Amino acid sequence: MYLCNASSILILHCGHATEDSDFNMSEKKMNKNKTFNVLPNTDKGFITTEYLEKVTAIARKHNIPFFKITSAQRLAIIGHEPETAEQIWQELGQKTGPKKPVGIHYIQACPGIEWCKYGRQDSLALAEKLQKAFGDLPLPAKTKVGISGCALNCCESYVRDIGVFGKKNGWTLVFGGNGGGCPRIGDIVAENLSDDEVIDLVGKCLDFYGKNARRLERTARLMTRTKIDRFWEKIGVRGKSRY
Ligand code: SF4
Repeated sequence: MYLCNASSILILHCGHATEDSDFNMSEKKMNKNKTFNVLPNTDKGFITTEYLEKVTAIARKHNIPFFKITSAQRLAIIGHEPETAEQIWQELGQKTGPKKPVGIHYIQACPGIEWCKYGRQDSLALAEKLQKAFGDLPLPAKTKVGISGCALNCCESYVRDIGVFGKKNGWTLVFGGNGGGCPRIGDIVAENLSDDEVIDLVGKCLDFYGKNARRLERTARLMTRTKIDRFWEKIGVRGKSRY
């Protein structure tokens, strides 16, 4: 969920697991000028017409005039009181921020080869596989995944903790990227990968991350303080680093 005022939005909490995902903690930080947002689950950025109608009916019921599409392609129901947020979660039939270990924050995928004329690989299918493999894995901090179907990188894969983008001969896997206030372009782990090879290597990268990161340390910060040769040695491939 986000805590926001008219001019800015701060991430406090959303419908997925994050260190900030304690609804009560968010409430304590409120003041009279601030309102809450609800981010319903949207599977890989797809929203069916039925689901949109349901969300729209809920928003109308609470006099919420518009939605916000977030940078991560999620639909935010914005600008209401905390008690309304609780009601909205109930009406959606979804849980408020579940108190489970920090892990994959979201998997963002572009339309890919199925729906985009530039697509080289099936980003939506890979997103499904990554969600299944790592969606419930506890990790040191929130971990964002961006999967782009071609090298145009609409999902900004170079600045995601785990970034994947498609080329004619397969996937390129990037690890340790971050946007925000202290950006870092991720290191290219390997190229020309199949779906299964991506899953295998992501598993190795996350294993390294889980064993070596400090609590709440994002992958980019870990990679900045890690000797890159040690990283390549531990995951068993030698990729390309810009640093
Ligand atoms: S990354 Fe490529 S395939 Fe994906 S939406 Fe952008 S242009 Fe299309």
